[in-house]
Amino acid sequence: MRKLGYNVIDKLVDHLDELRSKSPITSDSRRNMDERLTEELPAKGMKPEKVFDHIIKNILTYSNYLNHPKYFGYVPSPSNYVSAMADTLATGFNTFTGGWSISSGPAETEIITINWLLELFGLPVKWGGGTYTSGGSMANLTALVTARYIKCGDDFTKAVLYTSDQTHSSVRRGARVVGFQEDQLRLIPTNEFFQIRLDLLEESIIKDKKEGKQPICIIGNAGTTNTGSVDDLTQIANLCEKHALWMHVDAAYGGGAILSEKGKNLFKGIEKADSITVDPHKWFFQPYEMGCILVRKHTWLTRTFREEPEYLKGMRGVADEINFHELGLQLTRRFRALKLYASFKTFGVNAFQKAISYNIDLIEELQLHLEKNTNWEIISPATLAVINFRYRPKGLLEKELDELNESISDILLKEREAVILTTKLNEKLVLRICSTNPSTTLQDLIESVDRCAEIGQSLINK
Ligand SMILES: *Cc1c(COP(=O)(O)O)cnc(C)c1O
Repeated sequence: MRKLGYNVIDKLVDHLDELRSKSPITSDSRRNMDERLTEELPAKGMKPEKVFDHIIKNILTYSNYLNHPKYFGYVPSPSNYVSAMADTLATGFNTFTGGWSISSGPAETEIITINWLLELFGLPVKWGGGTYTSGGSMANLTALVTARYIKCGDDFTKAVLYTSDQTHSSVRRGARVVGFQEDQLRLIPTNEFFQIRLDLLEESIIKDKKEGKQPICIIGNAGTTNTGSVDDLTQIANLCEKHALWMHVDAAYGGGAILSEKGKNLFKGIEKADSITVDPHKWFFQPYEMGCILVRKHTWLTRTFREEPEYLKGMRGVADEINFHELGLQLTRRFRALKLYASFKTFGVNAFQKAISYNIDLIEELQLHLEKNTNWEIISPATLAVINFRYRPKGLLEKELDELNESISDILLKEREAVILTTKLNEKLVLRICSTNPSTTLQDLIESVDRCAEIGQSLINK
């Protein structure tokens, strides 16, 4: 056991040590992976050292490194070593965190860390609560189920949900999965800053009420995936109060920014939310998987999810001892809280604050660099460590610009040095950078966008 463990740690540390000099893109095709890995189910075993050598060489090597300092696609997760070790320990102990009397230490750790998060977001620790999920998609789903049940009980045929056209696809999928019809989710257009149009939002609510529908919930964004934009949460809170609606905020990736001055300002009003989604495996630097739903009243979750079968009686605690299987969809659940706990204890929240402010400032500096070259057009300015821009030399049509920028990203990916992907904003195809990695430097970013400009120029000169 020790030999295998030390061997695994050595390999892991070697990998992290060499990460910067590796390529961030290492995924391969299905055909090549088949060739590498297809075999009959092994009848006989072999030495674990050999198995793990094979795992490193033929499996883990063929997976992009989202924690690479030049990975700027999606919401890259840098993770951290302390949390990875805590996660290892939780897996090794094989802790079950469904019911209090089976695992009081882990349950208390979940309570304590959830309370820390409640406090950060300004929700009442006394009444509030929450639970860890696999990720933001599951947290949004949990929020939708809870909002629906608390607002409508079992009959939600007339219910309507409201959110912006920039909202993450997991909200649409979640709504569909829990049984809302397509016309029960209104996707309200956004303004020039990609924030929900409040005038259209209220018009829509009033119209639905007039038509005998039942508006139940507004889903606001605190950091959209596309542009990092934050809805006017104070105004959303006012509308929710005025029309008696549930206020959910999706802060899956943006949530970490609550630790920075800039984020705190943008997030004003989030403390009025009934529920908040946040993904510690994004901007709280945790390894996968870790999402979280926070709620203003913890009893909302138990009312929605509690089942009390005979065979689970033994794991129940007394009144104030929380049984986490009653707060969500999972009965058997791993000990996710430990990694967040271990990293907050080890680094202190100040280190998190510093890292997140650094990420935000760095993209603002990148914007200043982009603005020096007149061929770059900023489509959405640096917000919460996201920026969208495109290469736009004079004299090209919109369609040509789309193709040009798509090609820039494609060629950059083929070079395997840096990852910058595209998205669509206002019908324009644009390059998007998201950088939440504290080991990324301004130099890394400048090298990557300058390379994009070179590629763009050479494509024009062709
Ligand atoms: C990433 C993201 C999600 C989905 O979270 P997963 O952890 O990937 O399931 C939801 N909403 C927003 C805004 C996100 O950025």
